[in-house]
Amino acid sequence: MRIILFGPPGVGKGTQAQLLASKYNMLRLSSGDLLREEVSLNSQVGRKVEQYLRKGHLVPDDIIFEIVDNMLIENQDNDILFDGFPRNLAQARNLEKSLAQLDQTVDIAFEMYLDENEIIKRLMNRRYCPKCGRIYNYVTNPPTNDGVCDFDKQKLTKRDDDTEEVIKQRLKIYETETRPMISYYETLNVYREVHAQGTQEEVLTTISEIVDDYLTSKSRSN
Ligand SMILES: [Zn+2]
Repeated sequence: MRIILFGPPGVGKGTQAQLLASKYNMLRLSSGDLLREEVSLNSQVGRKVEQYLRKGHLVPDDIIFEIVDNMLIENQDNDILFDGFPRNLAQARNLEKSLAQLDQTVDIAFEMYLDENEIIKRLMNRRYCPKCGRIYNYVTNPPTNDGVCDFDKQKLTKRDDDTEEVIKQRLKIYETETRPMISYYETLNVYREVHAQGTQEEVLTTISEIVDDYLTSKSRSN
C-alpha cells in the first residue's frame, strides 16, 4: 500500500501520519527524514544534500527524486506512508513514474483540510518546549499546567515563524504549489478529502475507514 498524506500547515498532518503509520504498520517517510538520513549515511548523494542544507538552500528536485527512487526500490515490500511528500505537481508525477517502474501506484492520496481561520487560530496557539522539543497547542492539545511542559516543567515558547503574517504566506504557498496536485490525483482516481476538524482520534477514525474500505475492496478483487 502506498498512501500520501498532504495538507496545509496546521491541520495536524504530522500527528495523523504518526498514528496511521503505527496503526497499519507502514513505513512513514517525509522528504526531510530522507534527506537527513542520506546526510548521516555520508553517501555520495548525502554529501551533495549537505552542501545545500548548510547554505540554507532548498535541495533541488532531481536530488530528492534520486533519493526517493532508491528508497522505493529498497522498500518494495513494505507499506509506505508519504508525509509531506510530494509537495508539488512535478514531484507527484515523478513519484508515480518511479512507482510504475516497480509495478506499483499510489493507492490513496489524502488531503487534510481546515478552514483558514481555524488554521491560523491553531498555529497561533502552538507552543513548544525548548528543552525536549514536545509540541503543545492551547486549542487542541494543551499542557496539564498552563505554560509549562508536562514532561520537564520547562516554560513553553512560541516559534518565531508562527506569526499571522508568516502563516498566511505559508498558506499561499500551499495554494499555489501543492493544491494543483489535487486534480492530478483526481484523474488517477485516488484523491480523498478529509476534514481535519475534531479530535485526533476522530480524524484518525475518518481516515482509517477510508483505508479499511480500500483494503476490503482490494481483497475482493484479488
Ligand atoms: Zn519539555
